[in-house]
Amino acid sequence: THFGYRTVDREDKEKLVASVFHSVAGRYDLMNDLMSMGVHRLWKRFTIEMSAVRTGQSVLDIAGGTGDLAMKFSEMVGPAGQVVLADINDSMLKVGRDKLTDHGVAGNTRYVQANAECLPFAENTFDLVTIAFGLRNVTDKDAAIRSMLRVLKPGGRLLILEFSKPRSSLLSKAYDAYSFTALPVMGKLVTNDSESYRYLAESIRMHPDQETLKGMMNEAGFVNTSYHNMTSGIVALHKGIKP
Ligand code: SAM
Repeated sequence: THFGYRTVDREDKEKLVASVFHSVAGRYDLMNDLMSMGVHRLWKRFTIEMSAVRTGQSVLDIAGGTGDLAMKFSEMVGPAGQVVLADINDSMLKVGRDKLTDHGVAGNTRYVQANAECLPFAENTFDLVTIAFGLRNVTDKDAAIRSMLRVLKPGGRLLILEFSKPRSSLLSKAYDAYSFTALPVMGKLVTNDSESYRYLAESIRMHPDQETLKGMMNEAGFVNTSYHNMTSGIVALHKGIKP
């Protein structure tokens, strides 16, 4: 174990994560709205506000999937800026690229298949790196955080939006019950795939809590790290700066 959570066999986890997202890609956005009852839009809106992105900047959204964040960033940076939507999974990346293209996003946005653990970009490239609901799927989270630090410019910021630990134990129990019963049932109904949603519930439970993740960011070399709980800690937004 590492930081108190179970280490899953690396190859098994990667295969599982790949099959989950190949399987759900086409219905991913619909499932997000259903499972979070639309609240994921608010979590993402807050993340966009905290990003303080300005015109002309460079942004990497890793594990960007269907591109909700990248779409906003591409408006915010304007024609002089650049956005990279990156994901390890080509099915998710394709749904994201089609969606952004349908929304008229062009020129300033690139689509790159990449693993968060070893980002294929030069050092000091981005003003902002975001990873939303992605880190818990990554096998070596410490390597991913180091890799994100490397590609940021000095003074650049990392935002990690992820499920976290609910603040009260009552809420925690209710939430566990919801994720282990309602999520697989909804998954089955909408995607005919309850296994994928069982994996998602499990991965949420195993993800490091607020303080642990903040500690991991510090250890990687980020400074001014902090986090902001949303929906009573069901989700947290972590922030850190590259010195
Ligand atoms: N960021 C999007 C959002 O918030 O809606 C998508 C989140 S989705 C739950 C998780 C994404 O992480 C999937 O698209 C998956 O392919 C991607 N992913 C999983 N492991 C990854 C890795 N090691 N590197 C990059 N992306 C990864």
